[in-house]
Formats: sequence, C-alpha cells, structure tokens
Amino acid sequence: MLHYRIIRAFNHGYPLVMLGLYVGSLILAMGLMFVFPPGTLLLLGLGLASLGIVILFARLLEMLEHLLARLILRSGTCPNCGRRMQTIHDEERPWTCESCERVFSATGKSG
Ligand SMILES: [Zn+2]
Repeated sequence: MLHYRIIRAFNHGYPLVMLGLYVGSLILAMGLMFVFPPGTLLLLGLGLASLGIVILFARLLEMLEHLLARLILRSGTCPNCGRRMQTIHDEERPWTCESCERVFSATGKSG
C-alpha cells in the first residue's frame, strides 16, 4: 500500500511542481531578455520541447497509479488504508472501502 500512496501523492503533486518550474523558467527568461537574449529563446525552445515529455510522464504516472490500485484491489485490500475489503464484488459497481470510504472504479481510478 505504501508504494501506491507514494505514487498517488507524487501523481497529485506533479502538475503543481511542473507549473512551478514553467513559471520559474518564465521569470528567468524575462530576466534574461535584457541581459542575454539568446537565453530567452533557448528557454522558450526547451519549454516547448519538454511540454510533450511532461504530459507523457503525467499519463504514465496516472497509468501506474491505476495499475497498482487494480493489483491491490484484486488481492482484496484497500489501496488507500490497507484494510480488507469485501471479496464479493459486482463488476458494474465501483469498489468502496468501508473503513476510509474511498471509491475505486473498475479501472483503478479513485474518486
Ligand atoms: Zn480504505
């Protein structure tokens, strides 16, 4: 369960960290505009080139989180709190933990 919670926390903090990096590079680029103009263009190019990689990594993190949740749910344990869940489960209804009341869809997405 700990690995799921670490991945989940990282997955939820990742967009904010990336936004902070992009805002930081924007501020740095604005400062470089008057001191070293090619640096501004370099930062713009790096920002645009890395945007696809950042989005791809976010999707991979999301897929990993859902995969781990499905694996843990299959063992009959709640991925969030680690307590045993009911083993009889209707496939059309989402998984619901009675202890922490977290709901997991069939894909592993928690709401
Ligand atoms: Zn739980």
